[in-house]
Amino acid sequence: MAVYQENKIALAISRYTRGMTLPPAVADYCRANGFGSIRRVTPLGGGCINNASRLDTDNGPLFLKVNDSTPPDMFEREAEGLSALAAPNAIRVPKVLGAGPDFILQEFIEAGSRRSDFWETLGAQLAALHNTTSPQFGFDHDNYIGSTPQINIWEADGHNFFAAHRLRFQAELARRNGRLDLANYQLLITLLSKLPSLIPPQPASLLHGDLWSGNIHTGPNGEPVLIDPAAHYGWAEAELAMMTLFGSPPQSFFDAYESARPLAPGYRGRFDLYNLYHLLNHLNLFGESYGASVHAILQRYA
Ligand code: ADP
Repeated sequence: MAVYQENKIALAISRYTRGMTLPPAVADYCRANGFGSIRRVTPLGGGCINNASRLDTDNGPLFLKVNDSTPPDMFEREAEGLSALAAPNAIRVPKVLGAGPDFILQEFIEAGSRRSDFWETLGAQLAALHNTTSPQFGFDHDNYIGSTPQINIWEADGHNFFAAHRLRFQAELARRNGRLDLANYQLLITLLSKLPSLIPPQPASLLHGDLWSGNIHTGPNGEPVLIDPAAHYGWAEAELAMMTLFGSPPQSFFDAYESARPLAPGYRGRFDLYNLYHLLNHLNLFGESYGASVHAILQRYA
């Protein structure tokens, strides 16, 4: 290829990545695995944290996220989560091609328009994913929820796991960040002791872990694809709750889920309790605007 064209692509890449250069491992991967050279880099919107792009190579497109200021194991943890979610073959997730401290490279999944049975399919497939269970709650490594560490120490007791490693961990962080006052912290501590009477026992299910609408992608055939997980073994109801945090799937989704995997009565009434974890995380990540929702849930249940 002409030097001029190489330079033009290099310039486009460096502009797009806001001063960051494309990690050398990415070009190496492409050359070593039959993709040849990178012809074009197109930024993609939609992500929260990282610079996502489509790489057009000599041999088809790839998906790349780069970030040189994330924790060094963040993309490795994402890769591990995607592999775990792929293993039971329940629902499509992108194949991971490589990951390093500053990048993750995946198969590129073209975005299609949703099939008419998209939500029913997602309900049935998510139920199948959740039927993958473990004797313990947790995961092989801690990972991240957004950019906040997510603690995955293995625990046999789901209430202890959720209390210590989900709610209390976030609350301690919010105290340190000056975002949770003592009164609310004390309410939370009271709530922790009540969890066993508020939440029925459930198995430790394999969860996507961060299933807000932005992480439900549509594949080329209109099928559901899950991206950007914070995978771990946890309560399935908590996953469904998160799907209602910013918008909500239609009833047909819940019907399909429940006919494949029955839920304990009253599960919708528990959604706020599970979502307290994500609201505390948002309080930590994005600040005070989440304080009122946190307070309202604490007052209601503690
Ligand atoms: P972030 O970690 O910054 O939140 P995401 O993983 O959510 O980034 O990805 C950003 C956007 O890129 C998504 O909204 C989605 O539209 C698109 N995307 C994510 N993964 C793929 C993929 N494997 N193939 C094609 N597009 C993808």
